[in-house]
Amino acid sequence: MTEQTPAKVLPEGRMEKIVSLCRRRGFIFPSSEIYGGLSSCWDYGPLGVELKRNVKEAWWQAMVRERDDMVGLDTSILMHPQVWAASGHLAGFTDPLVECKNCHLRWRSDELKEDRCPSCGGELTESRQFNLMFKTFMGPVEEDASVVYLRPETAQGIFVNFQNVLNTTRKKLPFGIAQIGKAFRNEITTGNFIFRSREFEQMEMEFFVKPGTDGEWFKYWLEQRLNWYLKLGIKKEHLHLREHTQKELAHYARSCSDIEYLFPMGWAELEGVANRGDFDLTQHAKSSGKGLEYFDDETKEHFLPCVIEPSAGVDRSVLAVLCDAYAEEPDPSAPLRTGKEEIRVVLHLHPALAPFKVAVLPLSRRENLVKVAKEVYTDLRQGWMVSYDDAQSIGRRYRRCVTVDFQSLEDKQVTVRDRDSMNQIRIPIAELKNTLAAKLAGEDILVLPPGGKVWKEERT
Ligand code: ATP
Repeated sequence: MTEQTPAKVLPEGRMEKIVSLCRRRGFIFPSSEIYGGLSSCWDYGPLGVELKRNVKEAWWQAMVRERDDMVGLDTSILMHPQVWAASGHLAGFTDPLVECKNCHLRWRSDELKEDRCPSCGGELTESRQFNLMFKTFMGPVEEDASVVYLRPETAQGIFVNFQNVLNTTRKKLPFGIAQIGKAFRNEITTGNFIFRSREFEQMEMEFFVKPGTDGEWFKYWLEQRLNWYLKLGIKKEHLHLREHTQKELAHYARSCSDIEYLFPMGWAELEGVANRGDFDLTQHAKSSGKGLEYFDDETKEHFLPCVIEPSAGVDRSVLAVLCDAYAEEPDPSAPLRTGKEEIRVVLHLHPALAPFKVAVLPLSRRENLVKVAKEVYTDLRQGWMVSYDDAQSIGRRYRRCVTVDFQSLEDKQVTVRDRDSMNQIRIPIAELKNTLAAKLAGEDILVLPPGGKVWKEERT
């Protein structure tokens, strides 16, 4: 299924522009910024937190709520240390590390193009394996017996709960368990904004299937997951699949393909889809001494299921969404305001992901208008993130808006304007919720007939 897409890098400086926009508008700030920041840790601001929640919500909706063969889970970050011995992370979750003998910077040797330090050109040490798990101590005594790890992936929380889920839900194969949560990796080199950080969030799902059917399910999930990004508006030409070579495969994987996105620094992994076989359940059954087999009612057989895992990064998805939505375009209102052409930055975010879905604006601050506008606002915010503003200039900033004007007082109608097309329609207040729901579900409100009637389109 791997498609060959030529490597292409987007215009230079694009990542810097996105980082700067994120900071200016309150999407993403460096962590602990007033103390100079903490390398590779990021805080999501007022707009960023909404965007990130919407990404997770879209994943949960598609993976859990809309499926009969899926359940969700939320497991703890700290787990029994034996989990990581059994899963192979203690011995094998390592990257090859070299250190510069001159400036002492550390690098991943598998990522270096030359055998000298990329920073100062100094000589490098021999490569050694560096474990990426963060270690800490449980309780007040700092001794070997109390060592615990911050989980480097959410998947193991799912495997160790396999029997709990089976016993409590009576799910039959094939079925999946999905989880969203924080993961931590003491990465040797970080960078490219939120692409690679040491604390991040994952959206992982383990799909348990009958051995022998794993190949088909692997293909199925690869396609499903690629379509999820397309449905959220990511451009097709910015996505491709890359199959792992035999040498690249992780210790647990029978096969693996990455969904890659064309980030400003080039093609890079957005999500990995792996066929993990029965590796994890076998390991945990051996290590815990507990029977983790599945009993097939029809064939009366006991066996360990195989597992297909689509594993996506929340932060990488947010970055891909931002990169894809970022546009610099002529500001249509600038000539009217200033008499000059101006370029403005617009984030063409998919309606399902946009932090604010709609802004409610009374045309003036007259008491009777404000009253109706506030009623509309109170009603809409039951279902969506809505902003309200009676400052005069607001129409410039919030392009998808509901305007309450003097005519609204008489005809109980409002003007709704679309952010992207700038088209506007006039609809009854009573139809507002349905119209917005349809728009957010991807329908074009201009062709939607509210109450069976086609509303007249007016160009601004
Ligand atoms: P990479 O090769 O980029 O280090 P990986 O193959 O180690 O990634 P996986 O173990 O497959 O990553 O993790 C699944 C997903 O978790 C990745 O596709 C990515 O979206 C996300 N992820 C992994 N490591 C990080 C990180 N350090 N920062 C942000 N997201 C990450």
